[in-house]
Amino acid sequence: MSIIKVTGLTYIYGQGTPYEKTAITDVSFAIEQPGLYALIGHTGSGKSTLIQHLNGLVRPTSGTVEVAGRDIWADPKKIRDVRFEVGLVFQYPEYQLFDETVEKDIAFGPKNIGLSEQEVADRVREAARIVGLPDELLQKSPFDLSGGEKRRAAIAGVLAMQPRVLVLDEPTAGLDPRGRDRLLATVKSYQKTSGSTVLLVSHSMEDVAKVAEHVLVMDHGRLVLFDTVRAVFAQAGRLGEMGLSVPQVTQIMTELRRRGAALPEDVLTVAEA
Ligand code: ADP
Repeated sequence: MSIIKVTGLTYIYGQGTPYEKTAITDVSFAIEQPGLYALIGHTGSGKSTLIQHLNGLVRPTSGTVEVAGRDIWADPKKIRDVRFEVGLVFQYPEYQLFDETVEKDIAFGPKNIGLSEQEVADRVREAARIVGLPDELLQKSPFDLSGGEKRRAAIAGVLAMQPRVLVLDEPTAGLDPRGRDRLLATVKSYQKTSGSTVLLVSHSMEDVAKVAEHVLVMDHGRLVLFDTVRAVFAQAGRLGEMGLSVPQVTQIMTELRRRGAALPEDVLTVAEA
């Protein structure tokens, strides 16, 4: 089943003002559950605007967004409900940590929707386990955690809502290589074991090649490519025209092929190379 279906989506900032700016033009696609998707595109291509439509933070200028077969704006009074189905982790989510302890911070969402104390406690423990935060950190102030731990705590807060779709905007930004790899591995294993859908917005083609199954490519507000990760990265020339690259190892293999080596076009990882 398509867990998210976007049809003819157009969004214009400041419509009717002198600052009018079309950020998204006639975008249509559907993503499935389960699935691990990446969304890539040059800065300003419309990625943030698009993902804010998926959980109802932004209302389409025209077009529709359906989650689990329901038009999320069919009844605008119920728009908040979609936030339980689609969890959005913003860039640098650790800036939104605020509570006295990590545990309370993660518990904030589940508590707010009126779950029992036991259910809240179970969800906090489960979310902390998924992101790899040890129990002894739960009673600490979130401000005493390391950068990577803060990021994990913030993601746990969204996971504790048990969304069917998890959207992560540049989740590895600012982390060191080891932190990046750990977080990507966490995202991948969470998606597999939960059977949910994950959509990862990323500037890192390396990250995308490592985890995504399918890739959506935005360019100047339009969805220009949507295919398997292998098929998308086989189009180095087209991506280059949009200011995007392919993973470094793919570039090297392409260059070797250009010089006459009999190599495939779609090598994605060092292990494959
Ligand atoms: P990306 O996430 O790919 O960098 P955005 O969705 O942030 O792209 O931006 C898409 C376009 O919309 C850009 O041209 C950007 O300048 C414009 N834009 C983004 N936010 C606003 C805003 N609040 N007001 C006006 N224009 C905006």
